[in-house]
Amino acid sequence: MDKAFPCEGKEWLFDSAQGHMNLNTPIAELPRVGPQSQKKLKRLGIKTVGDLLFHFPHRYEDFSNLIPVSSAAQEIGKVICLQGKIVDIKNIRIFKRSMTITEAQVEDSTGKIRATWFNQPYLVNTFKPGDFVFLAGKMAEKNGKKYLSSPSYEKIPAQFARGEESYDSTHIGRLIPVYPETEGMSSRWLRFIIKPILTQLKNEIPESLPEDLRRKNDFLEIQKAIWQIHFPDSLAQAEAAKKRFVFEELLNLSLIILREKMNLAREKTVTVPINLDIVKKFVGLLPFKLTNDQKKAVWQILKDMEKPKPMNRLLDGDVGSGKTVVAAMAALNTVKAGFQTAIMAPTEILARQHHKTFILALKKFRLEIGLITGKENHIDGKKVKRSELLERTKTGQIEILVGTHALIQETVEFKKLGLVIIDEQHRFGIDQRMKLARKQDFIPHLLSMSATPIPRTLALTIYGDLDLSLIKELPKGRKKIITQIVPPEKRKDAYDFIRSEVQSGRQVFVICPRIEPSAKPAEGYFDERAASWADVKAVKEEYEKLKKTIFPDLKVAMLHGRMKAEEKEKVLKSFKEAKSDILVSTSVIEVGIDFPNAAIMAIEGADKFGLAQLHQFRGRVGRGENQSYCFLFTDFIRNPRLRAVVKSQDGFELAEKDLKLRGPGDLTGQRQWGFPDFVMASLADVELLEKTRNAAKEILQKDPQLKKFPLLREKLNAFRKRIHLE
Ligand code: ADP
Ligand code: MG
Repeated sequence: MDKAFPCEGKEWLFDSAQGHMNLNTPIAELPRVGPQSQKKLKRLGIKTVGDLLFHFPHRYEDFSNLIPVSSAAQEIGKVICLQGKIVDIKNIRIFKRSMTITEAQVEDSTGKIRATWFNQPYLVNTFKPGDFVFLAGKMAEKNGKKYLSSPSYEKIPAQFARGEESYDSTHIGRLIPVYPETEGMSSRWLRFIIKPILTQLKNEIPESLPEDLRRKNDFLEIQKAIWQIHFPDSLAQAEAAKKRFVFEELLNLSLIILREKMNLAREKTVTVPINLDIVKKFVGLLPFKLTNDQKKAVWQILKDMEKPKPMNRLLDGDVGSGKTVVAAMAALNTVKAGFQTAIMAPTEILARQHHKTFILALKKFRLEIGLITGKENHIDGKKVKRSELLERTKTGQIEILVGTHALIQETVEFKKLGLVIIDEQHRFGIDQRMKLARKQDFIPHLLSMSATPIPRTLALTIYGDLDLSLIKELPKGRKKIITQIVPPEKRKDAYDFIRSEVQSGRQVFVICPRIEPSAKPAEGYFDERAASWADVKAVKEEYEKLKKTIFPDLKVAMLHGRMKAEEKEKVLKSFKEAKSDILVSTSVIEVGIDFPNAAIMAIEGADKFGLAQLHQFRGRVGRGENQSYCFLFTDFIRNPRLRAVVKSQDGFELAEKDLKLRGPGDLTGQRQWGFPDFVMASLADVELLEKTRNAAKEILQKDPQLKKFPLLREKLNAFRKRIHLE
């Protein structure tokens, strides 16, 4: 139920003195949005009035069915809504438990009822006897007395109570919007802020869908739709509004991706001939045989790079499927043709790991391989000065440069960059590619690697501009990770097992569940800021519990998304060096890092995660020689989803299942895409995806520069920023 809202009753609107509010007005200029609230809103990515109005509810509560007070008594245990007059209100202090109960008597023409609230003593000032109110809450019964327990409330202004005007209520007596609540911002507060703004601005919101497209699909006009999505007259109207906005989001996404593809096709690149001798030599030196999927992927990549058209390929394969060797072959072939290769990783620790792996894998070929991060500069594993690293990159002596985001800094300049490989990253737009190759007259080929198995249907839309190479087959001889569902009564056994594994030298991950639905990420390159405080709290609690009560004899460490990057690196590094036994973390910890000694992945509240995500966590163990285990802690042992994870170790299969079961929310990382919840759910709708893709094609065929749609163009630019294409 809603938290109390202290400003209740003071309706506010912009008066004419402040009357120049528009969609671009910063939220800081809104009355009653204090610095605290501003901060919270900003974390949701809401900076302007427009952002606020486009922050949509994710569901509705039906508080429209008002019942007469006399029938409330029959509804024990149910949520009811009623309308009545306060006849009495008082606070009762219970000293023993140091709390206050506020008790009100409410009546209508049919009868009287008691309503109670806990620890909200100020309510006696909010309501006076004689006030008319809406109340909504659960009917309860205690010691034979029936009462309405901690109801939500909305005061009805006097002129409406007298029936002189009809009152459009906000919180009760209608369908009320429930927003994804984050960082302690209640839906009640959001309704209170949004409604008056919407009332004032609704006629100024410009239509952003092309008119013929809107008519053809029978979509609501934007001004009606935005009202109906916040304060719907009926669920059908809310649904209709949502349909329109979902279509628009997906259309924008398709437009961006198709335009990106068109723009890329116009760019010049270099052709990189296939050097079969070198490729064969490399394969011959490997201590294992490539899988068929690896061979196929290498071939597709090398074939792409032979063409004068910039490659834009996604190499998608489960953790441990062996993407790095494939990337190494592409890099080697590029270098042998006389071009440089850049490899970009999302974190320093991953960049370091790649640097090492590439040095090792390409040892026999005597390449010069550099590493650049925020503070490190290495060549072939040895420390050098940054100036030397940059100089040798510029002259082309460094043939492969591995790095973090530091790679796209102004100062890094390549001589002839032929290939860019990005690992576990956000999308990499043309602009970023050009930035890397700013001094050359061609753009490099791009190979993007991801360990998130993406079902084909989805890949077509969100990666529609990328060609896809899938590695579905794991290298032979991999030990299966033994996966077990752990119900509460088996928890002790699991802990005992964990202790014995640690005592024989293994390490353990513990993942805590995400608490709140994730927010839109704030801007910034990495995901970590999307971590909610509730997640952090959960991690801290779990950490304390394990350290103090369960494993006081072991070394427990903690990692969460609100830690500074350096701090995180430190924790990860010390775990890698086996200076801690157990690492407790949120779900946002990086993929791709090798911890060969980690043999147990324990997931708390496993039922809260999607299949694909559970599978990804599991992929963080089992990289070494030892038999590895994955424990799914849960209170719901009959959960069929968890059973699927126990049964299958095939990421793509689990991803397909996940998409069908709960939409792609966890799959592609909502945090990564910055889509609101309501759009994520629709990404499973193949028909809709096709429809929007076709609509986008049609628009671009007629008007590739979107000259006739300036507003759409503007929206696309904002959208591009949101999905980190630039
Ligand atoms: P990822 O796809 O997660 O990046 P890696 O490339 O790190 O996977 O490979 C995981 C491990 O598997 C590495 O130690 C690598 O040497 C090994 N590997 C890769 N391909 C094969 C193969 N075909 N047979 C056996 N081991 C392989
Ligand atoms: Mg990898």
